[in-house]
Amino acid sequence: MTENKEQTEETLFRDLGLNPEIQQAIDEIGFEKPSPIQAEAIPELLNGHDVIGQAQTGTGKTAAFGLPMLQYLDPGNDEVQAVVLTPTRELCIQVTQALRSYAEHLDIEIVAVFGGAPIRSQQAQLRSGAHVVVATVGRMKDLISRRSLVLTAARFVVLDEADEMLDLGFLEDVEKILRMCPSGRQTALFSATMPPPIKRLADTFMYDPVVISITPKTLTVDAIEQAFVEVSGREKVEKLVKVVKAEDPEQAILFCRTKIGASRLEKDLKNRGLDVKALHGDLSQGVRDGVMLAFKNHRCKLLVATDIAARGLDVDHVTHVINYDIPNSSETYVHRIGRTGRAGRTGRAITFVTPDQRRDLEQIKADVKASISEWETPEDRIEHARPPRRKRRGQEAAPLDEQPTVAVEKVGEFDEVVEVPLASDPDQQQESVPEVADGEVKLFVNRGARSGITEEDLRWALREGAVLSEDQVADVRVLDRFSFVEVDGDIAERTVEFLDGTRLKGSGIRVEIARN
Ligand code: AMP
Repeated sequence: MTENKEQTEETLFRDLGLNPEIQQAIDEIGFEKPSPIQAEAIPELLNGHDVIGQAQTGTGKTAAFGLPMLQYLDPGNDEVQAVVLTPTRELCIQVTQALRSYAEHLDIEIVAVFGGAPIRSQQAQLRSGAHVVVATVGRMKDLISRRSLVLTAARFVVLDEADEMLDLGFLEDVEKILRMCPSGRQTALFSATMPPPIKRLADTFMYDPVVISITPKTLTVDAIEQAFVEVSGREKVEKLVKVVKAEDPEQAILFCRTKIGASRLEKDLKNRGLDVKALHGDLSQGVRDGVMLAFKNHRCKLLVATDIAARGLDVDHVTHVINYDIPNSSETYVHRIGRTGRAGRTGRAITFVTPDQRRDLEQIKADVKASISEWETPEDRIEHARPPRRKRRGQEAAPLDEQPTVAVEKVGEFDEVVEVPLASDPDQQQESVPEVADGEVKLFVNRGARSGITEEDLRWALREGAVLSEDQVADVRVLDRFSFVEVDGDIAERTVEFLDGTRLKGSGIRVEIARN
């Protein structure tokens, strides 16, 4: 076993049997040696095996499936030979960019298709030839049903972040898509966790897969100070406000267990004048993208999030993680607090517990071997940390700045963050040309008063979902069956991209640039 590990650690890209063109791209990108998932998965995939990779974002999984996939393609064959299915548009764009960089010296066309962008331009891109299609599930289904995409030659299929597809309710569609691919295909499935439905999917659709499980390297995050606040359920919000004001975070994520809890907390905090946004599964993808972007760009200080919704969130400047609801496992605790103290900064993790949750807290303390002491205001902390107080510590809790640190899995071991140009993907910009003139552009929304949509709802969607400011929206008109929105020309395409295919008041909406 140990030997094996050492071998893995010493593996070089050139030992993996990749083409010189691919090797050249890797060298130019600057990857020095394969990450563990790459060292293990690449040879298996090159040997034609199906692979299940239990690995999350940040482990290098995109290259793990991408490099062998690219090697396997025949540039002379114009059919779609490989398909990568992703749960979200953000991941779809990110994977496409990564694959394009790996294919720099190959004559391979990689096309991204995802919801919320005009389908016609994606159809056109497919028509002009795609060897690889990277797709979100819904848009791929749509394109198949319009006969713009045929999978009969897709001999290499990747399901990326399968557990997230499950969470988002896409599994049935994924199965349908898999049935359309040739039975002799090679399938790779990547998933951070392996819940039973994913295992069943693998059993049904994969052939004798090799399972590679990568436990992310545990790194010591030196800088996470941990505290708890004991409070009764009724006083939680007030106490939270007090803690937030005292801590004055640069940016904080407040974790809730449920979607309802998250949206209630958002409201409660807003009512108390705090600058807060929420991220949870009840929001449409467009709105979630908007919230993530706002948070990443520091346009909001506090983010209320559920565990699942926070998964795709990769941010470096979070100074505080507050567990407003205590996590349901020690694993989740570690995951949550690993969001702070990144990139060499200090971070604080504060966990709220009701008296009956003290036992859960003790369990977490024991599992993560951390000292989590009672929260004090920053002033008290400084006071308590002064040297004269140190004479004999005995059983006392150590000052927070001296507490033992906890080993947490660092999300994103190779943390050169890939910027995901949600709104400004160059490829998408090209598509925007003729319709988007200077001045205002009118957008058509296929829902109106009959679907219960009001002007206020649309303004909300434009603000929260498309991240537009008030003055970028010239007019909103709700008619009976549909609505029109006028926005600044330069952000019209982006607005369509953010809002088309999202949900508003329970109905899916289509948004497009209005034809005269
Ligand atoms: P992924 O898990 O595929 O999203 O990759 C996470 C990040 O790791 C991306 O920024 C990649 O460019 C980077 N990365 C992938 N493989 C390697 C490698 N072998 N060496 C260094 N960085 C890598």
